[in-house]
Amino acid sequence: MKGIEEGTGLMLKEAGNSVSVITDAYTVLNKELTMALYALLPAGCVLADEEALKRASRDETEDLIFLPEVVVRPETVEHVQAVMRFAYTHRIAVTARGAGTGLSGSALPVHGGIVLTTERLNRILDIDLANHQATVEPGVVVESLQNACAEHGLLYPVDPASKGSCTIGGNVAQSSGGPRAVKYGTTRENVINLQVVLANGEMIWTGANVLKYATGYNLTQLMIGSEGTLGVVTKVVVKLRPLPLHTLVLLVPFFEARQACDAVSTLFMAGLNPSCLEFMERDAIDAAIDYTGSKMKIEEGIKAHLLIELDGQEPATLEQEATLFYEVLEAKGYTIGQILLGQTDAQKAELWHLRRQVAYAVKHTSIFKEEDTVVPRAALPDLLVGVKAIGSRYGFRSICYGHAGDGNLHVNILKGDLDEQAWKERIGVGIRELFQLVVSLGGTISGEHGIGLVQRPYLDIALSQTHIGLLKGIKTAFDPTGILNPGKIF
Ligand SMILES: Cc1cc2nc3c(=O)[nH]c(=O)nc-3n(C[C@H](O)[C@H](O)[C@H](O)COP(=O)(O)OP(=O)(O)OC[C@H]3O[C@@H](n4cnc5c(N)ncnc54)[C@H](O)[C@@H]3O)c2cc1C
Repeated sequence: MKGIEEGTGLMLKEAGNSVSVITDAYTVLNKELTMALYALLPAGCVLADEEALKRASRDETEDLIFLPEVVVRPETVEHVQAVMRFAYTHRIAVTARGAGTGLSGSALPVHGGIVLTTERLNRILDIDLANHQATVEPGVVVESLQNACAEHGLLYPVDPASKGSCTIGGNVAQSSGGPRAVKYGTTRENVINLQVVLANGEMIWTGANVLKYATGYNLTQLMIGSEGTLGVVTKVVVKLRPLPLHTLVLLVPFFEARQACDAVSTLFMAGLNPSCLEFMERDAIDAAIDYTGSKMKIEEGIKAHLLIELDGQEPATLEQEATLFYEVLEAKGYTIGQILLGQTDAQKAELWHLRRQVAYAVKHTSIFKEEDTVVPRAALPDLLVGVKAIGSRYGFRSICYGHAGDGNLHVNILKGDLDEQAWKERIGVGIRELFQLVVSLGGTISGEHGIGLVQRPYLDIALSQTHIGLLKGIKTAFDPTGILNPGKIF
């Protein structure tokens, strides 16, 4: 593999795994090939300066760095096709890139080659009011699409905490979720058709702009979550819904973290249907308060919070629902503190700002590894207890938070004061044990961040060899020479 693995980021061999490194069977872009690529595209579309290469060499996954040989910034689907035809002919690795906010190292060009960024493919092409659909290019930032839809009274609901920077193309490739997935589904449930450029430069649409599709295998769903390994997405058609006019946010503090996890399935069993249901351990909210300089005070003894959002068209209905939430929690006898109610835009924004900053805040405190565990939601209490038990066995501190309504807990394992040697020796074994626990609870090793590079060593815990064999067969059918984002997933 090319590239540098800096600092104490996970190194595949040290994770105690049996992954074999893919050999470098790719063509290096020598001067002649680079000049040919320049000639293929308009001026400004190909960059090979140090700054551009560095920008494309990392994402938000720990501190891993892999330099590409060139960066291309296509402006049209025809440009993407030309790049792919060129790469296919010369067997050059191509890694698509959105905003580089991924957390599994999926956008890292581990075999060098070309990074194809979608930063210039960033147009909202159509908001189809009659059919409640939007067609966008992959480089559109999620929040921009949401804002554009809101102007027409419509909602594009998928809202990763990184929505202000991540792109729709990245969301499609990672099958991204976010807080609202609990009510509206992940990207998977909100994309209906994709335009894709294949490894050899041919272009296809994966489906049709319809709400039902029973016409052969579902290539749209296959492409979602494929992490740029099957094709380059060049257009995305999403489903829209009426925009809820009102929201109400509750921050519910619990004196026992296990009870906060238990309350998640209790609330659903009582028939409640929140638009978001997020979990934050005490350390997570403390880190966010510190990091953002918020003035919020957390009561002594509180161990975790649930952040609950309700949405709808009538404020009075939301207030009634909020009362129901309180009654259900009280009836179950959980020991909770003073519930904070966010009603004004400013109050709601502050609560959400804290939640969205947790990831950055935790990163700020220590070298870390973030795992994206997901279990059936009733198993959340067992997951939390298990995480802490594994942590004490290996000497790791952990901070947990995430999309509890989906059973999706982000486990941040912190190096803290652990010495370098111990961290390197234990981290891979500890993660393996964590994932074994997750699978034993009926869950899997990633809910929304993908496998990418850093979860690759653990795929065998979640999937049988037969299953992995089928996935590899699909990869070969789409990408026979293996040029699309090599070194990821398998
Ligand atoms: C603070 C923070 C909070 C986050 N919160 C959430 C969250 O709540 N929920 C969640 O699901 N994720 C979350 N993420 C993870 C991340 O934002 C998502 O994975 C996001 O979808 C990545 O989008 P991106 O544009 O940055 O893609 P990148 O990181 O650039 O790329 C991700 C993958 O997509 C592929 N790709 C990109 N564009 C294309 C394309 N056009 N065609 C084919 N493949 C393509 C890349 O090759 C790579 O495999 C968070 C990240 C951060 C840093």
